[in-house]
Amino acid sequence: MCCFESGLKSVSLVPSVGESGLGKSTLINSLFLTDLYKDRKVPNAEERIGQTVDITKHTVSIEEKGIKLRLTIIDTPGFGDAVNNSESWKQIEDYIDEQFEKYFRDESGLNRRNIQDNRVHCCLYFISPFGHGLRPLDVECMKAIHEKVNIVPILAKADSLTQAEICRKKRKIQEEMKQFGINIYQFPECDSDDDEDIKTHDQILKDSIPFAVIGGNVQVESKGRRFRGRLYPWGVVEVENPAHSDFLLLRNMLVRTHMQDLKDVTRETHYENYRAQCIQNMTRMVVQEKKRSLREKFHEGSEDNFPLPLAAVDTETERLIFEKDEELRRMQEVFERIQEQMQHSHRGGC
Ligand code: GDP
Repeated sequence: MCCFESGLKSVSLVPSVGESGLGKSTLINSLFLTDLYKDRKVPNAEERIGQTVDITKHTVSIEEKGIKLRLTIIDTPGFGDAVNNSESWKQIEDYIDEQFEKYFRDESGLNRRNIQDNRVHCCLYFISPFGHGLRPLDVECMKAIHEKVNIVPILAKADSLTQAEICRKKRKIQEEMKQFGINIYQFPECDSDDDEDIKTHDQILKDSIPFAVIGGNVQVESKGRRFRGRLYPWGVVEVENPAHSDFLLLRNMLVRTHMQDLKDVTRETHYENYRAQCIQNMTRMVVQEKKRSLREKFHEGSEDNFPLPLAAVDTETERLIFEKDEELRRMQEVFERIQEQMQHSHRGGC
């Protein structure tokens, strides 16, 4: 998984979830022109049998059109590598939650001005080009995290597919994501008065999902030109050539055009959901605690653990607490409905 987190203008990318060997490290190095994985030790098959998913973090600083960006790249080596991969995604899910929790705690603390935002803004989810669409592990993992992070699906090693195969696979993966109710990152709609070029580019972006990418960090020379590519016995593929790969579309979207939106959606939707859930749980705990102490007070010595029916409530205080509990539940429902409507109108744009 690839998440990003940037700092000066800082974004946190869980860069790559996907089984090992799909080209995640190569793509990350190609996207940010770094060499993050030179010390990586790839475990052998025996070591991977019972492997669990690790979480590792790298930070890279890049400059994009004069703007300095600090990207935190979170890797998940070991994902999908064990014999039994059930719950492989648990560590990833926990990691995302921990960042929300940290932020929530800092936000409620005294020093709210200098909060370090390590929330995960984007997850590049790598899908194998060799299967027939999504694997069960892909479905389960994406469903476990899709309400917590912006998922951007990637069709890895696109040079292993023909043009027609790429189109078919993209269509199949899009259909399966719909069928399994997987919510990936939705590009915001253009404004009606936007330039035609912007609208066309926007449509190209939307139609490209999952981005079919090729990674490569070697400079290749062919027909008098030098470019980053992959050299095969039968020819060369160019990483940055739009006819060969969606690499440039993905890069531009991540570090230029949609970085702010990824952060906004993280803050306004994913983090808000987490926060609302936390507040609801905390309120419930307080109400439960109050109920328990009232029960103890009024039924001392009784073993009865059932909630007190409203009709049986004989004091004004108890009645108020029951009513407050109900009110909170109703408010939460209204709050969720409003949030849903806001999300719809935000996504719906013009
Ligand atoms: P990771 O384990 O997912 O991080 O995968 P790596 O980046 O280590 O790549 C595994 C192998 O796939 C290496 O031999 C890479 O050179 C190769 N590879 C990486 N990207 C591509 C690609 O886009 N196309 C092809 N054909 N091979 C790739």
